[in-house]
Amino acid sequence: MTEDYRPNTYSLSYWEQDTFFRGIDTIVLGSGIVGLNAAIRLKELRPKHRVVVLERGPLPIGASTRNAGVACFGSLSELMDDAAHRPVEEVLSLAEERYRGLLRLRDRLGDEVMDYRPYGGYELFLPSEAERYAACIDIMDSYNREFSSLTGRPDTYKVTDEAIKNFGFAGIEHLIFNQAEGQIHTGKMMQALLAKARSLDVQIYNGVEVTHWEEEEKTVSLFTAQGWKLQCRSMLVATNGFAARLLPELQVRPARNQVMITQPVPGLRFKACFHYDRGYYYFRQIDGRILLGGGRILDVEGETTDSFGTTPLIRDSLIDLLHHLILPGQRVEIDGWWSGIMGVGDQKHPIVKRYSDRIAVAVRLGGMGVAIGSLVGERGAELLTDT
Ligand SMILES: Cc1cc2nc3c(=O)[nH]c(=O)nc-3n(C[C@H](O)[C@H](O)[C@H](O)COP(=O)(O)OP(=O)(O)OC[C@H]3O[C@@H](n4cnc5c(N)ncnc54)[C@H](O)[C@@H]3O)c2cc1C
Repeated sequence: MTEDYRPNTYSLSYWEQDTFFRGIDTIVLGSGIVGLNAAIRLKELRPKHRVVVLERGPLPIGASTRNAGVACFGSLSELMDDAAHRPVEEVLSLAEERYRGLLRLRDRLGDEVMDYRPYGGYELFLPSEAERYAACIDIMDSYNREFSSLTGRPDTYKVTDEAIKNFGFAGIEHLIFNQAEGQIHTGKMMQALLAKARSLDVQIYNGVEVTHWEEEEKTVSLFTAQGWKLQCRSMLVATNGFAARLLPELQVRPARNQVMITQPVPGLRFKACFHYDRGYYYFRQIDGRILLGGGRILDVEGETTDSFGTTPLIRDSLIDLLHHLILPGQRVEIDGWWSGIMGVGDQKHPIVKRYSDRIAVAVRLGGMGVAIGSLVGERGAELLTDT
């Protein structure tokens, strides 16, 4: 062992090497939804294997603890928008994957533990969106047919304009209701996943950022920001929006998303989730408050970043939406703001593939990781079962 004298680095003691990091079979990078589901699956497949998750943040700080908790598989205008760029079969199969992913998440954790609520989701249309709304109506019957066996409903999507006045929104002309959408408490879901992983003896170490690795014939050596060298037999990269830092050749771009939460709103008149402008904006109620996010489309270049933070441009657009569309004429205080980092690309399908003999990747979850993250993590894990 050589002592490392670089500032802020320190060597592992013999004891640490001989316990925490000895004989690791698989290291998973990232403790978001994908990394934790992968670790759980690895232990289910090989209970005796040593599985370690390395997480650079004090918490799993990327997207999984910072999202809106909408258990959605696609609003009609979002699916239609996707179908303008990709074959419709591909769009439908991804929506189906999202729905199946949600079932998997619910099956794994149970609805109660993550406060799953089947309140449905509405898509809002302004008068200026008449063309988009008409196009959604045109495809509604065929999408309902496609999804009927999946959701068990003949009319997954339906027009519910009569509800507009009940919610008290201003300037909305039409509403399309997705009956099969739900919502969760994101923090509780992540705590339950962490507990599940730990109960299977997955070791999770926070504050460990992997900077690079070297792959040898029988091992992968990982190097961390502290200057540690750790070894394992196989590795899964589940760092989503941060993936390009380690693997710049992957088609994954970071995409920041900004979110606000209000103080409790007296007499709040809805409990469902809402999508607006092809899903670029979204809001829901939680504990009598409004959680509202999105607006990345206003500054796509500026929001292509993996640095956390909020900006006046997007904060102002969300405040405007809150005061003029959602709660017109009602005074409401904003309690706080945060941001999260998604991983996106030119197409929406996640990247789940073998990268080399001993390394696999499961990244690029876009804005749908709550829905599809369980399946993506499990598939990533299954790619490593022969290493
Ligand atoms: C504001 C916001 C709202 C969203 N709303 C929804 C929604 O309502 N419904 C929905 O389905 N999806 C939503 N999403 C998307 C969803 O949250 C993500 O798709 C999902 O959480 C991605 O999970 P992940 O595990 O792939 O990535 P992450 O949760 O980002 O996990 C990756 C982890 O890797 C760690 N990491 C990165 N680099 C390293 C390294 N070098 N070494 C060690 N660790 C590292 C990070 O700290 C992070 O914890 C939203 C996303 C955001 C940001």
